[in-house]
Amino acid sequence: MTHFYTDSDGNKVDNPRFLRKSEKALKRLQKRVSKKFRKGQPQSNNYKKAKDKLARIHLKVSRQRKDFAVKLARCVIQSADLIAYEDLQVRNMVKNHKLAKSISDAAWYQFRCWLEYFGNIYGKVTVAVAPQYTSINCSSCSRQVKKTLSTRTHKCICGAELCRDENAALNILAKGLSTVGHTGTQAWGQNDLCLDLETSVNKSAG
Ligand SMILES: [Zn+2]
Repeated sequence: MTHFYTDSDGNKVDNPRFLRKSEKALKRLQKRVSKKFRKGQPQSNNYKKAKDKLARIHLKVSRQRKDFAVKLARCVIQSADLIAYEDLQVRNMVKNHKLAKSISDAAWYQFRCWLEYFGNIYGKVTVAVAPQYTSINCSSCSRQVKKTLSTRTHKCICGAELCRDENAALNILAKGLSTVGHTGTQAWGQNDLCLDLETSVNKSAG
């Protein structure tokens, strides 16, 4: 995953750096805690210290994650009248034991919850669409273009060539529009996703 967010206008938001940084820190601390654990004996002060630190980092990550999700969700909701997104299954996400993946999945799930929350507040339409075929189908001609996870560009014989995630975003938008019974006028708004988002998030995450 290179970007946390890609939309049908080509806006992209990188995976926040704090997710990668915290992933390393959490891994290291988790190792230290298990190393210092003594089975069937009273735990040492070093164990308690390491465990406290691990808990503090977990708390820090969850605050940063929330901050990031809230800011991005508010920007996205304010930038359009209709927001469609992939209806990813949370159960599949929880099953994933890879730490890096699970941290960003949790962030994504939280982002989605805030999208729905702000959608209600600002009176915007939010639609979760089934993820099937959203990355395979060509957004220009609907042909199926098979790709592996590492194929970053969607290239179709119809001439369409664009970022894989952007192609998927266009398919998701089309699916979303068909779900809400779109009637022809532009239902989505201006392409003005807050550009200072990364800066403001990085500042508060520092
Ligand atoms: Zn095509």
